[in-house]
Amino acid sequence: MLAKLYTNLENDFNEMVSIRRYLHQHPELSFQETKTASFIKKYYEKLGIEVQDRIGGNGVVAKIYGSKPGRTIALRADFDALPIQDEKDAPYKSLVPGVMHACGHDGHTATLLVLAKNLNEMRADLEGTYVMIHQHAEEYAPGGAKPMIEAGCLDGVDAIFGTHLWATVPTGTIQSRVGPIMAAADRFEITVNGKGGHGAHPHTSKDAIVTAAQLVVTLQQIVSRKVNPIDSAVVTVGSFVADNAFNVIADKAKLIGTVRTFNENTRAMIEKEIERITKGICFTNDCGYDYVYERGYPALVNHREETEFLMDCAKSVPGVEIVEETEPQMGGEDFAYYLENLKGSFFFTGAGSHDAYPHHHPRFDIDERAMLIAARTLATAAVNYQKKSHD
Ligand code: MN
Repeated sequence: MLAKLYTNLENDFNEMVSIRRYLHQHPELSFQETKTASFIKKYYEKLGIEVQDRIGGNGVVAKIYGSKPGRTIALRADFDALPIQDEKDAPYKSLVPGVMHACGHDGHTATLLVLAKNLNEMRADLEGTYVMIHQHAEEYAPGGAKPMIEAGCLDGVDAIFGTHLWATVPTGTIQSRVGPIMAAADRFEITVNGKGGHGAHPHTSKDAIVTAAQLVVTLQQIVSRKVNPIDSAVVTVGSFVADNAFNVIADKAKLIGTVRTFNENTRAMIEKEIERITKGICFTNDCGYDYVYERGYPALVNHREETEFLMDCAKSVPGVEIVEETEPQMGGEDFAYYLENLKGSFFFTGAGSHDAYPHHHPRFDIDERAMLIAARTLATAAVNYQKKSHD
């Protein structure tokens, strides 16, 4: 049956490309993807497939029922775009100024739609139920996964699989790993409250810039001196604002940054440590402070059984040349929430080459042939999972 499914998907490759290019020309920002959601819904309605929109926001969920009883498998594709100006030369470049599918979510959507169509055509041969989760707002925390789960998109589901097309990994490669594969991504904000004054009279003021500058440097010691070298973490200060005249001592300085971790204890330790350092340095400099730490997506932790199963499935997929273990990445991904609730696995489908433009780059593009590989790999995992015995 899989052989037939592989051929049918290949025959529909042009449709996949045309859907992907249409979405590429019409990108929408996270939480604003109403036209994309209705495009997805209409696709299913036309095929007579059960579909529901407005799931936890702009989310869309479709269900395909095999004619035989079996397990319920969810497959997820996200569909939001980014606030980036499309600068590539392609006939299908974005028609929306300042908005671009610069992460390949257009390709994820095209892959899942055409796969769903083909599963539906073969439902007489299928066991179990297939839940197509089209998720809004992956790029912008708090993200779409959490509200979709709260709205019940995983109810009755036994396992979930998802993929990310990855432009800087060669087409034909499938990558995954057991355990943490993407990091928890948090945001912090520190406001140093000093006392402004004349630039010529430092002794009568409390300099927020000098204090914040010490903070930027000392925060770097958290990773180098507090985190176990075997563990991984990032503390990045991405913004330092103390807009002021040249001859005035700054009253306030604001630092904004991101923290990336894989381990919950490390995450909690860094959250506390940033405040401890802030408190100490502000005390030394006689300044006050405000500290806000916002937890973003948790680390994406792949389940062992499902990941080994997925990688095994990938080896039999036509078009897949290499199946390999990847290193964990410090990027975030709200697929993490599904795996907190359910067994499953997330993997990367190579969609380009090592020298391709990276994700979120204004000239980002994918090798569209990878969509066929992604569809076949997801299909193999979903169909074979019916027969999988549990360890
Ligand atoms: Mn992405």
